[in-house]
Amino acid sequence: MNQLNIYLSNLEHNYKFLKGNLNSGTNLIAVVKASAYGSALLAITKRLEKLGVNTFAVAYSNEGKILRKNGIKSRIMVFYPQPSGFDDIIDNKLEACLYSVNILKKFHEKLIFKKLRNFPVHIKYNTGLNRLGFKPSCFDWIINQLKDDAFTLKSIYSHLAVSQAKKEIELNKKQIESFLKLRDKHIAISEINPKFHLLNSSGLFNFPEFQFDAVRCGIALHGFANRPEWDKQLIPVAELITSISQIHLVKKGEYVGYDFGCKVNEEKKIATIPLGHADGINRKLGNQKGKVLINGKIATIVGNICMDMFMVDVTKISCSEGDKVYVFGNENSVSDLAHSAGTISYELLTAIGPRVKRVIYD
Ligand SMILES: *Cc1c(COP(=O)(O)O)cnc(C)c1O
Repeated sequence: MNQLNIYLSNLEHNYKFLKGNLNSGTNLIAVVKASAYGSALLAITKRLEKLGVNTFAVAYSNEGKILRKNGIKSRIMVFYPQPSGFDDIIDNKLEACLYSVNILKKFHEKLIFKKLRNFPVHIKYNTGLNRLGFKPSCFDWIINQLKDDAFTLKSIYSHLAVSQAKKEIELNKKQIESFLKLRDKHIAISEINPKFHLLNSSGLFNFPEFQFDAVRCGIALHGFANRPEWDKQLIPVAELITSISQIHLVKKGEYVGYDFGCKVNEEKKIATIPLGHADGINRKLGNQKGKVLINGKIATIVGNICMDMFMVDVTKISCSEGDKVYVFGNENSVSDLAHSAGTISYELLTAIGPRVKRVIYD
């Protein structure tokens, strides 16, 4: 009974909360990359489309293709196109985000080869994250390229590196200033009229004054915004539950799990849980780091996480084989669980493997 329960009513709450914080002219781009943050891509996207989302974003073109093949009609941005995915972008009417001289040139060649006109594209600037994006100094070159009617420029954007950190942090100020300058320069060229956007989920909470024409929200739709006080205003969408496979009484001096992971110093009751690192249970949660809930009580993970299972100490918990195990959800938040393993909600959520059944609740 391993299942990831997906509560669409919680998604709806988060969506409406975020919308309620937007200026009247600001659009919400729903980021549904990585199977909607490891949840259930189609169920999540379809509900958001029904709620009024008109633009989605994915990381890679194959994710966008899946959405189109399954009837999503809204606009779909592909954040990180690669030449091998250009045909998928074109054939599925996705929108390409162009982030480098190389990618822009190659995409342009493809459009010319296919004799396409006015293909929707977005320009991504690197203002300080130093991951993907044009240098601000490419402005003139980009404007020149975009004069070709192969392209229609839909938007200009950038991405903050520390959007959840204190507003005043130098890198935040530097990136925002750089983006504002780029925006002024683009606006000064009046014949093209793109939209502008900068903020992800925590950016929206931290910098509501820089919403511009759109915000790009992913994790917040799933109930997290990278700070406890912001998380409180949202509700987790995913809940991971399972049940105890077996219980052992382990004697003093014995070990639990592979590689002598846990030496037992007094007799202990140990429960085996049927989820492992193949299901996305990060190995760093082993050895007293991670905790789950069994019959309302906290059970600590002991020993190393195995591929298909892990063990918890239930010495002080009244429980039997088959009892429900609550791994994360509204309680035992995935954000806290992630922190106990030195990682973040994004990683734990997107790691939940395909063996775990997704069960959708309306
Ligand atoms: C993933 C991503 C987002 C969404 O970020 P969240 O923190 O999940 O809201 C926004 N913009 C870009 C460019 C991204 O890659």
